[in-house]
Amino acid sequence: MNDPQQHRTIDDVCSQPAVQEAKSLGLASPIYPSSVYHCSTTDEADALLAGTLAGYISGREGHPNASALARRCADLHGCDEAQVCGSGMAAIALALLAEVSAGDHVVISDQLYGRTTQLVSLQLARLGVTSTAVDATDPTAVAAALRENTRVVLVETISNPLLRVVDVRSLAELAHARGAVLVVDNTLACPAVCRPADFGADIVVESLTKLVNGHSDVLLGVVCTNTESPAGCQRWSRIKSLAAIWGFTASPFECWLAHRGSSTLALRADRSCDNAGTVARWLDARRTDSASGISEVIYPGLATHADHAVAQAQFTRHAGYLVTFTLSGGRASVDRFIAAGSGIPFCPSFGDLTTTLSHPESTSHRGYSPAEREALGIAPGMIRLSVGIESPDTIVARLAEALAAAR
Ligand SMILES: *Cc1c(COP(=O)(O)O)cnc(C)c1O
Repeated sequence: MNDPQQHRTIDDVCSQPAVQEAKSLGLASPIYPSSVYHCSTTDEADALLAGTLAGYISGREGHPNASALARRCADLHGCDEAQVCGSGMAAIALALLAEVSAGDHVVISDQLYGRTTQLVSLQLARLGVTSTAVDATDPTAVAAALRENTRVVLVETISNPLLRVVDVRSLAELAHARGAVLVVDNTLACPAVCRPADFGADIVVESLTKLVNGHSDVLLGVVCTNTESPAGCQRWSRIKSLAAIWGFTASPFECWLAHRGSSTLALRADRSCDNAGTVARWLDARRTDSASGISEVIYPGLATHADHAVAQAQFTRHAGYLVTFTLSGGRASVDRFIAAGSGIPFCPSFGDLTTTLSHPESTSHRGYSPAEREALGIAPGMIRLSVGIESPDTIVARLAEALAAAR
């Protein structure tokens, strides 16, 4: 009854922060869900908002969990700075908005992620930015598409689902010679497979939603860049301010989850990429047997891959965790493969712990006409695997079971 707590008002009680001050530091990092921070003086507020003082004032401008994740992403790419965004698409939009204005022109790969193609060909077009789509694995085609007003060349390190690999260094040289910047979406590679900034990319964007977070429970993206040149400093300052102005900010909890997820990136990437190599070789060995029902196997680590040499020159020892193959029985075979329920879920994304599959015709490429898909080389029987970290024997056994059902 003498407890002084009893005499505190509701306001007293509810205005107490949950944790005053940690008595000892926990090994795990805290989550800072705060959307706003204390300012000690008016000058401090001024300096924080001007960006001349490091610190936080509004969660939209930045918060500790975004900073920690951004630092990690920049370090993974060997870049000076990184801006975390609420999704991979937000990161791509931010990178483009930081570089182009009405009247400018963008050269894009003709195999970009579908939403990215729409972002450039529909949304940027609406804002007065024109674009040309070319085969980005052909530097001559990219050179021919560059114009006086080209500001950006936008490509993906590895394309989906054909897993074509671009020569980042050649594209960077071409872009720079014409005063344009090279933006590389490295999502399908991830920094464990390729670091495009090492080969001259000016901006590296990634959807952290995929392998970097790795647990299919977060949507986030990142924009990485360098600040060693005056142009790089200006670019970074545009990226930072545009992220706050357009509201591309990521939430503290998601940043915290992705920071935790990415702690095991090296282990997961090693295992997934090694497994992908095993799966690709296993499938490829069966391709020549017509009874297997496999007509094509695509993996940049296979010597038969169109861009094998580029991949070898530019990738770490890994060739990625995605493997594409085609069932000669077409879509009906794919449905039987899926219905076999062999423990390879049909989830049209990638980068999870578990091996998953996608069917490009009915998901990522359903917006294309059958003729367009055929021209791209996307057959009705094509399956794109995202190989996970299970034991290789388990994955191969599940594949064998599903393939038997598909025949
Ligand atoms: C998934 C993906 C994106 C979009 O990322 P979100 O985080 O889902 O917005 C962009 N580019 C590529 C290559 C992707 O695979």
